[in-house]
Amino acid sequence: MALNIQAVRGMNDILPEATPRWARFEAAAREVFAQYGYREIRMPVVEPTALFVRGVGEHTDIVEKEMYTFVDALNGESLSLRPEGTAGCVRAVLEHNLLYPGPQRLWYSGPMFRHERPQKGRYRQFHQFGLEAFGYPGPDIDAEQIILSARLWRALSIPMPALHINSLGSGAERAQHREELIRYLEAHREFLDEDARRRLYTNPLRVLDSKNPAMQNLIASAPKLLDHLGEASRAHFDGLRRHLDRAGVAYEVNPRLVRGLDYYNFTVFEWVSDRLGSQGTICGGGRYDGLVEIFGGKPAPGCGFGIGVERVILLLEESEPAVASAPDAYLVFAGEAAGECAPRLAEQLRDAGWRIVQHCGGGGFKAQMKKADASGATFALLVGDDEAQAGTITVKPLRGGEQETLAPDALLRRYQPKH
Ligand code: ATP
Ligand code: MG
Repeated sequence: MALNIQAVRGMNDILPEATPRWARFEAAAREVFAQYGYREIRMPVVEPTALFVRGVGEHTDIVEKEMYTFVDALNGESLSLRPEGTAGCVRAVLEHNLLYPGPQRLWYSGPMFRHERPQKGRYRQFHQFGLEAFGYPGPDIDAEQIILSARLWRALSIPMPALHINSLGSGAERAQHREELIRYLEAHREFLDEDARRRLYTNPLRVLDSKNPAMQNLIASAPKLLDHLGEASRAHFDGLRRHLDRAGVAYEVNPRLVRGLDYYNFTVFEWVSDRLGSQGTICGGGRYDGLVEIFGGKPAPGCGFGIGVERVILLLEESEPAVASAPDAYLVFAGEAAGECAPRLAEQLRDAGWRIVQHCGGGGFKAQMKKADASGATFALLVGDDEAQAGTITVKPLRGGEQETLAPDALLRRYQPKH
């Protein structure tokens, strides 16, 4: 019996029709990251589970319920598919002593895995482009990363998303706020949903992050961390705002922005598009000055962000039609002599940068010309017995224009590849 195997739910194939958009995003991101001096690093997709439990935080959605965790049958080690890139990046930086010579600006990309309910903009395998800067106390670097991301949105010509910023202050300030927040939430216990009740004592700040519409009023009047900021936190936040103001990057201070991961301090930010429904956050990031130390490194501040590529691609889809990567020419040939010289000719043109689809599977000129038309190529190149004998080639523009027969050298001088 034939097997009927399908992709794992929430894990998508990206089909040839869509890949040009992905490539455009990837090229733009690479270019913009390089423009600011960020260098690429590549980490494994699988890491020890403990890395994420410690680095992302025990009481986060990710660690509590979203990780793909399994036991390596050969040695009993608990491993996880990476749900995000920062923890692995910090591990790699420490493992290879990258901070020894000084601060580092790094970027990474690749698939991430979270066991969530699949819906538009939310998948179980999704992709991030992220960057991290280590060794810079900021807020200049926090601003740089935000300004850089604004440049990327412009480079992609997507509708400018809204920038939300907030400060999570220091650990001590959060502890103070936490007490007050717990008292407030306890006083309104009857309005808390199940998640919020569970988090009330483990991670009350995350209650503010809830997307449950029924809790939004409660959240809106909850004690704000921003009111608990000490001098250093306040100065950092004001500094960030000054940098953004000077750069002309508009933002909204959102006191309820707490972000999903445990390790943030001071700056947190998100870019939110209003065109993607409740999955509107296309990029989230912030500062995590304690993380390097947690993993046993010499204390070094860190700041970074992650872009959800699928969500940006949805915006690209909205703003432009898919561009098929059509070849420059489709090579049509028939007859024994032509069969010998046509492939050689195709190679010669490719040497000069042409993209040539060579007809395969035989058949007459008429049937081959249909394929040439359907290929979207700019030209059909025809080689028959006459051309083969004369060492020439017939160029037929497929979008209007006269056909002509000429020698390969003349063709190369006369026509440029269009792609
Ligand atoms: P959300 O609140 O949407 O769950 P998050 O806070 O969990 O996001 P981060 O951990 O900050 O997300 O990841 C950075 C970005 O990665 C998000 O802003 C989003 O664009 C993207 N992202 C996160 N989870 C998914 C997912 N399951 N599918 C697609 N993209 C995702
Ligand atoms: Mg999430």
